[in-house]
Amino acid sequence: MQTNLIDLYKNTADGQEAEAILRACVHCGFCTATCPTYQLLGNELDSPRGRIYLIKEMLEGAEITEKTVLHLDRCLTCRSCETTCPSGVQYGRLVDIGRAIAEEKTSRSPWQASQRWLLRTLLPRTAIFNFLLGLGRLFRPLLPGVLARNIPVARPAKPWPATRHARSMLVLEGCVQPALAPATNAAAARVLDRLGITLLSAEKAGCCGAVSYHLSAHADGLDYMRRNIDAWWPYIEQGTEAVVMTASGCGTMVKEYGHLLRHDPVYAIKAEKISGLTQDLSEILAAEKDALLRLLTTIPRGKAAFHSPCSLQHGQKITGVIEELLSKAGYELTPVADKHLCCGSAGTYSILQQDLSQQLLRNKLGALQSGKPAQIASANIGCQAHLQSGTDLPVRHWIELIEEALID
Ligand code: SF4
Ligand code: SF4
Repeated sequence: MQTNLIDLYKNTADGQEAEAILRACVHCGFCTATCPTYQLLGNELDSPRGRIYLIKEMLEGAEITEKTVLHLDRCLTCRSCETTCPSGVQYGRLVDIGRAIAEEKTSRSPWQASQRWLLRTLLPRTAIFNFLLGLGRLFRPLLPGVLARNIPVARPAKPWPATRHARSMLVLEGCVQPALAPATNAAAARVLDRLGITLLSAEKAGCCGAVSYHLSAHADGLDYMRRNIDAWWPYIEQGTEAVVMTASGCGTMVKEYGHLLRHDPVYAIKAEKISGLTQDLSEILAAEKDALLRLLTTIPRGKAAFHSPCSLQHGQKITGVIEELLSKAGYELTPVADKHLCCGSAGTYSILQQDLSQQLLRNKLGALQSGKPAQIASANIGCQAHLQSGTDLPVRHWIELIEEALID
């Protein structure tokens, strides 16, 4: 695709990156076939190709209207289009750049602006989120059904094992996961402990930065990234092997720290190193598979459906790894149609685009429940909470299922 950027963007790092991405697009439209919003709305401007055009026009100086913002807002950033694209167009980066420009050049209604500010302010602050969640749980019986369903019941975590191995890895606690699903990282620590690896959590690390970054508050997002780098660096200097991600949404973000901070004179080298050390928990267990298999019982564990988050399959291109581990652990995985489609969680999308999000949730739960599983497993806290809001089946992190299959 030919481009002709206006001077305002031509010489900026974002402008040059966007231009290179735009030029890779040959406008073939293959990506439209796997775009969830195009499937639901049937509008070219709600497809990847349509949005790519909107961003190109914006960078070439066209007026940025409410309509431009609407179609960019409706994108899930699921990156299904990236998986489908034969030309390797990095749509996720392009839409982040395009949204930030649109955000700067337009103004939102007071309602939209305050909603977005609240999400950026509350979600990454674990203590405040914890407090609000506690209040929500307390008053759950008094809340309207739709709100009550979005407040997950508390499931306490099993104890975290003591530090006792020479091998160690760091884990990101993240922002909402410690409150919504504390059992996840505890289960990861217990499984890795059995494999001879101590899992450590750096006290000062927190939100990966994705909430702010994907809401176009790039400076805030980068500050969260720097904070995590500062918190992890002493452990890395002491030889910790990896930075483990139990939420694939965070993993996708941390793997991009190196790229996003590449021009930062203080953090560029550290960010690159950390991105290189970052692995999804499934990648760690796949590397330790032989030892893990020796620890698993051979008891059949019933039917389970696996929901692969977009951030895992499209963002990190990890497919089939968790499914194989669960099968080896004795779970009978039920078939799931249209696995490539988003569940509608997509970070803050389930709050900001409720109608589309609910349609996607219904479709996804239909696909997941079609094989009559006893439980649903996933790999990202956002998906877990969103799926749980629409079903009575337990929705859990897959590592909890693996832990249950370990020999005592
Ligand atoms: S993003 Fe890829 S698949 Fe979509 S129109 Fe461009 S080249 Fe084709
Ligand atoms: S990221 Fe997802 S919703 Fe957005 S254009 Fe690509 S496929 Fe469509």
